[in-house]
Amino acid sequence: MINSEVFLNNLIEVKTRIATACDASGRSTEEVALLPVTKTWPTEAARMAFSAGFCSVGENRVMEALEKMEEVSEAGHWELIGHLQSNKAKFIPGNFVRVQAVDSEKLLRCLDAAAANSNCLLRVLLQVNAGKDPAKFGVLPEETDGFLEAALSCPNLKVEGFMTIAPFAPEDPSVARSCFESLRELRDRLVGSFEVELPELSMGMSGDMEEAIRAGSTLVRVGSALFGDRMQRNPSI
Ligand SMILES: *Cc1c(COP(=O)(O)O)cnc(C)c1O
Repeated sequence: MINSEVFLNNLIEVKTRIATACDASGRSTEEVALLPVTKTWPTEAARMAFSAGFCSVGENRVMEALEKMEEVSEAGHWELIGHLQSNKAKFIPGNFVRVQAVDSEKLLRCLDAAAANSNCLLRVLLQVNAGKDPAKFGVLPEETDGFLEAALSCPNLKVEGFMTIAPFAPEDPSVARSCFESLRELRDRLVGSFEVELPELSMGMSGDMEEAIRAGSTLVRVGSALFGDRMQRNPSI
């Protein structure tokens, strides 16, 4: 596990990358939020992020996140950024402030019911497989109109925008770029046709945040560039 000095140095580097990418595309750094991704790291990673002033961290597995929440006394919020099985929707309200990876109508219904049970309005992002990568979750771009319509009809869900994970192609940045641009264009079109606000575009990770910011990302989800290479922790993740 890295120490907080290394983390804070990494944080400066990541913030510099974000600022440089914002500059290059004429955007303000205030338009792009950073979500530290603490998945697979010990609870200490979340603690360091909260101490550094972040109000939320991202986790991709419900049960792993719930265990960490019990161990963290610092005030902080948790976002679920990974695929969620419908039968675990009941764990979300009260534990996670937002679910970023809503990818099926069944999950929509289960989250809506769970939020109703807890009397809360649950914030969600819809995950779109904008790069049409067979290895990724998310609805396909051509299914997104219908999926958004279903999401907007859930009274206990607040749809804030979209999330995508670009296909893994480190040698060719144009793959990530076209994925991110196509999601931004899709979002812009849907905002017009549904007359709703969908401000959040959660796009970009350690390897492709510059492309995402250039394409209009409002939230980059960053793990390894802050906490260290995932391969050193657990090669299976
Ligand atoms: C792990 C993960 C990230 C962070 O990935 P890094 O490459 O470590 O920055 C972002 N988004 C999701 C959905 C993830 O599962």
